[in-house]
Amino acid sequence: MRIERVDVYGYDLRYAHGEYVMSGGRTIASLPSTVVRIETEDGIAGHGETCPLGATYLPASAAGARAALGELAPALLGVDATNLAAVHDAMDGALRGHGYAKSAVDIACWDVLGRAAGVPVSTLLGGVRAPDFPLYVAIPLGPVDDMVAHVRARRDEGIRRFQLKLGADPREDAARVRAVLEATQEGDVVIADANGGWRLQDATIAARALEGLDRVLFEQPCPTLEECLVVRDRTTLPMVLDEVITDVQALIRAYGAMEAINLKLGRVGGLTAARLMRDLGERLGLRFTIEDSWGGDLTTAAVAHLAASTHPEQLLMASFMNDWTLDHVAGYEPRSRDGRGAAPTGPGLGVEVDPGALGEPLFSARRAT
Ligand code: MG
Repeated sequence: MRIERVDVYGYDLRYAHGEYVMSGGRTIASLPSTVVRIETEDGIAGHGETCPLGATYLPASAAGARAALGELAPALLGVDATNLAAVHDAMDGALRGHGYAKSAVDIACWDVLGRAAGVPVSTLLGGVRAPDFPLYVAIPLGPVDDMVAHVRARRDEGIRRFQLKLGADPREDAARVRAVLEATQEGDVVIADANGGWRLQDATIAARALEGLDRVLFEQPCPTLEECLVVRDRTTLPMVLDEVITDVQALIRAYGAMEAINLKLGRVGGLTAARLMRDLGERLGLRFTIEDSWGGDLTTAAVAHLAASTHPEQLLMASFMNDWTLDHVAGYEPRSRDGRGAAPTGPGLGVEVDPGALGEPLFSARRAT
């Protein structure tokens, strides 16, 4: 199953609800997404996607992904796409780091492997344990009334988990959380996610203002693990860490600082690394939110397979980002239902890319004949 050609495509993903606002004045209306298509000598093709959440969310950007893939694509030619270890060795031999770019290749090769084996990726990741699972939506930072209205609209669609974008004034942020709690019901979960927007003192003020509120989880209050550890000592709010959990080593360093990890495929380098961290974390008693920084149908499919193969007890929630965005390259599949998601059942990622939606590749690498 040697790789015969690599095509890299770009398309724009527009946010479905106007502007997506995070702490630090980070505002997004549309993002460039990058799709990798891997074709083998046997004619099997797989797809993967990477879409950084702008250039200031993580050390990643769309331009960076495309430049990195330009370095990686020639090194992949001739490698067995179904040998994920060989694929990563080839990538690491051509370019150090840049896991978010490698993630798209990794996912495309899992798609090839599943198609070659005739089974869904969820089977290869350990097997389906969660036939369907709860989804969440992120609520952009804004005036309290806007955030409450957004929560009510998504709640009407069946969503029961809401991640509030915070990290501005800690007292106003606490008021946002309390107002949303009022608009939700028993069994709903509200995640106060500052995206590292508070430094120590404001994070401590926010934690104190939210102390004792049931149904509230505290996500990535500060930008560094060191600060999060200090905040952790000052609150009983269950903690989720996200941006700082970049690899297995970070997970081990942070163990004890969180009950849950927001596991993003691109941040850790793809499904291969995310599966390892999921399996390790499950045995350590951690829960997971499974998703990616941003993305469309292909990202959603990859996320769905990892989420479905996670023990339901350890799966906090997942996101179907193709519900958050307007542009679809695989027929708006997989599709959420009443606030819940499920993995596609077809081979590989189980979704079919519409070539017309991708247009011409940005660039390609192919084996000399
Ligand atoms: Mg987060």
